[in-house]
Amino acid sequence: MKNDKYSTTKLESVQLNEIKNVTESPCHKKGIPLWLVLLDNIPTLILFVLGTILVCQISTIGAVIFGAYSLFSVVFFWAKICPFCHHYNTLACPCGYGVISAKLFKKRNDKTFKKVFKQNIGIVFPNWIVPFSIAIYLLVTQYTNELFILTIAFSLIGFVVIPLISKFVGCKNCEIKEDCPWMKVNKTSKK
Ligand code: SF4
Repeated sequence: MKNDKYSTTKLESVQLNEIKNVTESPCHKKGIPLWLVLLDNIPTLILFVLGTILVCQISTIGAVIFGAYSLFSVVFFWAKICPFCHHYNTLACPCGYGVISAKLFKKRNDKTFKKVFKQNIGIVFPNWIVPFSIAIYLLVTQYTNELFILTIAFSLIGFVVIPLISKFVGCKNCEIKEDCPWMKVNKTSKK
């Protein structure tokens, strides 16, 4: 019981320090320009549309479920990740989710952002994995040129354009990127 109390206090103190460091960060004093918000969101929207078209090649109901899942994964992100983020309810969030999340969900400090991010980021992975797997299966079993072009477009957006925008535009100038699990994952995978 005593240990629980001690751990909670320690956690709160770590979070308070994190919040203090970050709210003093210069990135909170400037807003992200609209073009950057659009640059972050339009490719994601295109990915969802191309993914839905790919799933539709094998099942219309599957495509409806996939489209609904894609939108759900974004709302889940607003609910489960953004409330713990330093950019929650600030104009420093590169994609604008932090502001939307604040309108729908309460700020949370009971866990660290790093932990929450690692626990929940998997929700978005099916948006890449499901359409890509279906595309590979269809290319092998019933190849068409249209399907090939669709797969290339999906892969370019999902595996090249979106990661490059994150790395070189959205997150490039972020003052807290050293604390971001996403940037650390990218760094580790390069080693
Ligand atoms: S930076 Fe990421 S986690 Fe933080 S508020 Fe914006 S979208 Fe959410």
